[in-house]
Amino acid sequence: MSDLFRIELQQSGTPETESFASYMYRLAYEHGVSAGEIVRYIFRKNTSEVKKYKDKNGVPKILISNDLVGTGSANELMVDFIEKETGQEFYKSTFWFLKTSFARCINEVRKEFFWCPECFKEMDIKGVPPYFKLIWHVSSITHCHIHRTRLLGRCPKCDKKQNTMIRKYPNNLCQHCGESLMKRNTSLSQDDFSNSWYSAGDDVLMLLNKLSYINRKDLPKDGIVKSYEFILNYCLNNSDYELLEQLSDFRRPFRNTKRKVSLLIARRSAYILGIPLFDFIVGDLSQLTFGPVLNLTSARPAFMRPVKKVIKDHEEILLRINNFLSSQSNPPSLRRTAKYVGVSVGYIDYRFEELSKKIKKEHQEHKSRLMLKKKYKAQKAALGFFLEDKYSKYNKSRKQAYKVLREETGLPKFILKQAIQNAYAALSSLVN
Ligand SMILES: [Zn+2]
Ligand SMILES: [Zn+2]
Repeated sequence: MSDLFRIELQQSGTPETESFASYMYRLAYEHGVSAGEIVRYIFRKNTSEVKKYKDKNGVPKILISNDLVGTGSANELMVDFIEKETGQEFYKSTFWFLKTSFARCINEVRKEFFWCPECFKEMDIKGVPPYFKLIWHVSSITHCHIHRTRLLGRCPKCDKKQNTMIRKYPNNLCQHCGESLMKRNTSLSQDDFSNSWYSAGDDVLMLLNKLSYINRKDLPKDGIVKSYEFILNYCLNNSDYELLEQLSDFRRPFRNTKRKVSLLIARRSAYILGIPLFDFIVGDLSQLTFGPVLNLTSARPAFMRPVKKVIKDHEEILLRINNFLSSQSNPPSLRRTAKYVGVSVGYIDYRFEELSKKIKKEHQEHKSRLMLKKKYKAQKAALGFFLEDKYSKYNKSRKQAYKVLREETGLPKFILKQAIQNAYAALSSLVN
């Protein structure tokens, strides 16, 4: 090999594979140059591919992480180059299959590096060179599939992203301040753990696993279109309009089966059908029996709630709010109402503005009335303490009054104190 020395792509050919972006950054770090330097090195070569690219586009100046795992022509050229130079296979450390099988969706691959601090820690313990996994680049995957913990995208100390082409440190240290990325700035709480297969990307992991066994040439381009055609026919032949409707929520109109879809839509459709993502994208569903189609009303991940269904529910929610209000003997707060009905305060505010105002006003008035009642009660008790015979055994100080009346009435401190002060002042002005 040439001027570059060989380093190994980590976990090559497995779903845990290092991403090509991570590899390029490691290559830069190991050679003591910036990643930009490596890109320029490749584009200085006078191969016919490079010439063809440069004639058309010039030399790419800035490449961010999604360029280096994506499907752009500059990236393909670099992948091919590094493959030839090193004799290792690199295209499977990119999202090559997105270009082949899916509709283009620019938001599906992250623009920044994300990582799992716990995975970095494990690599460190095992003495593995720290690397970014390909699966961490998928935007809709927010948690580690191994640790189920939330992925991070910013340094816990300086809060900076890790996209810089200048690689001063190994990948598990912040390139800006040198802080360890094996840390989190807060200790893990229950909220940091994923409770769904979706956010941790179990389905994408299985897809990467299947894809690791097949050759790039063998992945059909029109698999998804075939799958949709098959499903459409299945639904029509079996009069399963419910399934059709569920699928249409994410892909309108469903009947237009000549189109590819994004990875996100494919994930949702495969989930509804209860089939592996791989089978869905290769279009080989004839051997499969669907299902059992999941019961979508319970236990479905948040992203699966279709927009249409929510719109239908407004009337019913209004009915439930009104039922709740009429069942209460005192006007409840908006917060309590929202909680009972299972919506947010903001939802009622936005959706039923007038009703929301009415609930707030009535609750406020009710609270004021209650307060007034308590004040009367406190005033009566305070005067009683200084005047009535049954209290004659007590020393007539305000402190004593508070002690006794607090015990007797259970009224709040600030109300009692004010009432005692009023009574005391009124009576002493009488005496003087
Ligand atoms: Zn992890
Ligand atoms: Zn930092």
